Amino acid sequence: MAQVIEVTKNRLVPLEKIRNIGIIAHIDAGKTTTTERILFYTGRTYKMGNIDEGTTVTDWMVQEKERGITIVSAAVTTFWRGIRINIIDTPGHVDFTAEVERSLRVLDGAIMVFDAEEGVQAQSETVWHQADKYGVPKLVFLNKMDKIGADFDNTVKMIQDRFGKRLAILTLPVGKEHDFKGVISLLEQKMLIWDKDELGVEYSVLDIPQEFQAQVQEYRSRLIEEIAAQDEQLTEKFIKNEEISVDQLKKVLRKAVIANKLVPIYCGSSLRNKGVQPLLDGVVDFLPSPVDLPPVKGINPKTGQEEQRKTDNNEPFSALLFKVQTDPHVGKLSYLRIYSGVLRTGATVLNANKGKSERIGRLLLMHADKREGIEEGFAGEIVAAIGLKESGTGHTLCDPKYPITFEKIQFAEPVISIAIEPKSKADQEKLGQVINRFLEEDPTLKVKSDEETGQTILSGMGELHLEIVVERMKREFGVQVNVGQPQVAYRETITRIAQGEGKYIRQTGGRGQYGHCLVRIEPRERGTGFEFVSEIKGAAIPAAFIPAIEKGVKEAAEKGILAGYPLVDLKVAVYDGSYHEVDSSDMAFKIAGSIAFQEAAKQAKPTLLEPIMKLEVTTPEEYMGQVIGDLSSRRAQILGSESRGQMRVIKGLIPLANIRGYATIIRSLTQGRGSFYAEPSCYEEVPKNIQEEIIAQKIAGKKSL
Ligand code: GDP
Repeated sequence: MAQVIEVTKNRLVPLEKIRNIGIIAHIDAGKTTTTERILFYTGRTYKMGNIDEGTTVTDWMVQEKERGITIVSAAVTTFWRGIRINIIDTPGHVDFTAEVERSLRVLDGAIMVFDAEEGVQAQSETVWHQADKYGVPKLVFLNKMDKIGADFDNTVKMIQDRFGKRLAILTLPVGKEHDFKGVISLLEQKMLIWDKDELGVEYSVLDIPQEFQAQVQEYRSRLIEEIAAQDEQLTEKFIKNEEISVDQLKKVLRKAVIANKLVPIYCGSSLRNKGVQPLLDGVVDFLPSPVDLPPVKGINPKTGQEEQRKTDNNEPFSALLFKVQTDPHVGKLSYLRIYSGVLRTGATVLNANKGKSERIGRLLLMHADKREGIEEGFAGEIVAAIGLKESGTGHTLCDPKYPITFEKIQFAEPVISIAIEPKSKADQEKLGQVINRFLEEDPTLKVKSDEETGQTILSGMGELHLEIVVERMKREFGVQVNVGQPQVAYRETITRIAQGEGKYIRQTGGRGQYGHCLVRIEPRERGTGFEFVSEIKGAAIPAAFIPAIEKGVKEAAEKGILAGYPLVDLKVAVYDGSYHEVDSSDMAFKIAGSIAFQEAAKQAKPTLLEPIMKLEVTTPEEYMGQVIGDLSSRRAQILGSESRGQMRVIKGLIPLANIRGYATIIRSLTQGRGSFYAEPSCYEEVPKNIQEEIIAQKIAGKKSL
């Protein structure tokens, strides 16, 4: 990618001329090809007038392909009919629920790409429901109309059946499979044929031939009825059989799409360069601009009160950092969705999650063919900032005078771990550096080293999450590692109050050691973590030694009591002890703290906690029985079920240990049509008989290392 060319000054972007969109699909439906075509057609328009026709067009496309634009940029800015379209990359792996949901949060509309032969595939179903959850308006693109077996009507019917949404078919295919030539625009009543070469840049707009008239009239009247039903005035006109103008129809359709009441359907073949431009028109005509959306809500961290920010340059600045990427040219790029106000280069902003200030070094707009330096980013825009040091994915940046944090993206604690070991010395040298890069990009990844084995322990949100991290280490950074079996990240806690005494006294020649303390430990509510307090009054232990005791206690808590898992949800109070004028030291008190804590913890009836996942299983009605039966045998707690389109969604809670490999299981239970979504929810006590097994296994495992 080219270096920053120059900084554009005095740029002002009217909000209604922005579309922040994402393209989502099942793997292989054509997301990448469609994105490339969009960048190609829009890039060309943008550069029109300063490039030669012909070869340049092709060259540009080939180069871009080589550079893999759609893969390297988290957001690309491009233009169509004077509208700035920001395309936000959505991860292809739906298993990265945190990633997918994060990108769905910052985009305002989505293009759902389907393979017109395969119809509605499992992943498209999942992302569709996720988009619904965030109220993201959609356009549908039925891709691959040129493919053998492509079936327009059938795919439309499948979408209707699966999602139960009202659809507005806007284009019909002209020909199919090898004979697919173009589309008929039902609103404008024109036939668009891509009969010139030029990679589909130009196409002919023709009147609809007689042979298509009957079909077009049938679909068009259905379309008009669908749209008219969304508006009282139009309904009246429709009933009276009065003429409704295309403009009126578009206006009402736009409103209905934004309100998520209608989903427009387009069709084409990205690979054959047909049908993409009408889809782009659809993005402009029907997907929302930032001003079409309600203000975003957040919490003022000072008052704890809810506040909101309008998409308006005159409001205080606020933005969500939704992606961190490392760029070979400029280093760390932080992608921001600006919700309100104006962000200027050189500005000092507040990271409201951390309570720290950050300085904005440079601001960039990422285009398909270049990056543009800008002096300011406006409300509603997506920009990349350079120079942020403290901020990570999911943080809110804001005007220090008007602090706000947007709906916290709750990055749950990792629930599963794997041990990794570098294969060679060279791998070992690179490993630390590579892991640090991953940590910056991914807040759900955690790393620690196992003191006993010297291995690096990676912890994350699921098996696939960790698999992909390891895969990326190899592919992108050439670091080879040996990987252990995934392990559930259990925790320990205590169930009653207990006390313990710790003494560390050595007085054999030279300077002695003297540390002595008494601690009391108490259970705390689930999820509240660890608390340490000092209740020392008077001079039993000088205040200067308290931090050393705390350190000793914390280290002992990290190591666990039952099976080596960290102890959580407890309060530790040091309430008495003694010291020696000469022999007492931090080290002696640290050891005493650790001994006292261990003694107390053993008396406090320690128990094991396990991660519980919130689970949603989507299945066709006919497999409900089998799915529920299977879930029950996995210690799942079923909370209820609901209908989503033609599918049933079963909701429940399930121990993580019991849904390992569930993706395969749900597929085989439902003939491949079921899918599931699981996210860590909380930690709960493991039933006693299972605890014994886990502890025995862990101890046996330790011995064999
Ligand atoms: P993604 O996984 O959704 O990003 O899909 P890709 O864009 O990588 O496409 C997957 C495969 O489908 C590739 O082999 C493409 O060449 C092919 N493909 C994409 N669009 C079309 C199309 O319109 N027609 C046909 N026949 N194949 C297509």
